[in-house]
Amino acid sequence: MEKNEYSDCILCPNMCHVNRMETTGICRQKDTVRIAWAGLHRGEEPPITGEHGSGMIFFTGCPLHCQYCQNRQISGSDGDNYGIDVSEDELSSIMLSLQEDGAATLNLVTGTHFIPSITAALDKARAEGFSIPVVWNSSGYESIHGLELIDPYVDLYLLDCKTLSCQTASRFCRKEKYADYIIPVMDWIKEHHPTTDLESLRGTVLRHLVFPGELESSISFLRYFAEHYKDNFILSFMTQFVPPKEKIYFPSISEDEIDRILSLMDSLGIEDGFMQDPDEDDILWIPDFTKDVPFPESFADPDPYFLSIKHR
Ligand code: SF4
Repeated sequence: MEKNEYSDCILCPNMCHVNRMETTGICRQKDTVRIAWAGLHRGEEPPITGEHGSGMIFFTGCPLHCQYCQNRQISGSDGDNYGIDVSEDELSSIMLSLQEDGAATLNLVTGTHFIPSITAALDKARAEGFSIPVVWNSSGYESIHGLELIDPYVDLYLLDCKTLSCQTASRFCRKEKYADYIIPVMDWIKEHHPTTDLESLRGTVLRHLVFPGELESSISFLRYFAEHYKDNFILSFMTQFVPPKEKIYFPSISEDEIDRILSLMDSLGIEDGFMQDPDEDDILWIPDFTKDVPFPESFADPDPYFLSIKHR
């Protein structure tokens, strides 16, 4: 008999070993899939966004509760649990609807804690004609076991590497040992998918967000990236740091810091990839999942699959 992955959960590095049919682990989710928003979104890297937008599904809950989380209304970082429960059949229908709406990609955002349900829904959707590329949009906080389960379904990894510094990880991610997990994850993906081709949307786009006051952490990351993954992954360098709504305030990154990063990339031979424009005011926002459309108009589908999010 096939193992129920939720019965003794080791889907992420937290390895809670709980029975999620009865209780929750650190991700704060039981075995029923919960979704905070689904619809077309134009704010991803251009090949992922395509002409009409990426078909995003934001899952409620998260195994990693970062101090700076910008999706904290849905990640559970503050104890909120915005979203609606959906069955595997409903999840499959949403995937097909996004494809019908013209999505260039299916973009699964923080789905780690629902991997078994997601793969079941993808099987159902594919049996009914679902065929667009699948993007696994992840914090990078994955277990190898979870990766082995989801990998056959993934075309492109859109993976965070937040930092390789224990101190920075402790300050921003509340997970001092983050680097101990992200490096094996990147190595595993590199071994199984050594090249990235954005035309066919295969491989890995590695996202790195610069934390304010933590330039040395980003510099260390870039050196490591250049040495280990430059020929395998595409870099997406992000500067969209908006202070989360809490008492701690982090100053924004300076133009001088951006210039220093750019010249370092040049000297390290990192020529390909994406970078957010730090002068673009449009990027200074935090999604509000209590609204029908959580994003600025220019980013979001005006007619998303879910029109309202209920706080249940
Ligand atoms: S997904 Fe991770 S955090 Fe959630 S119960 Fe399983 S091991 Fe724990």
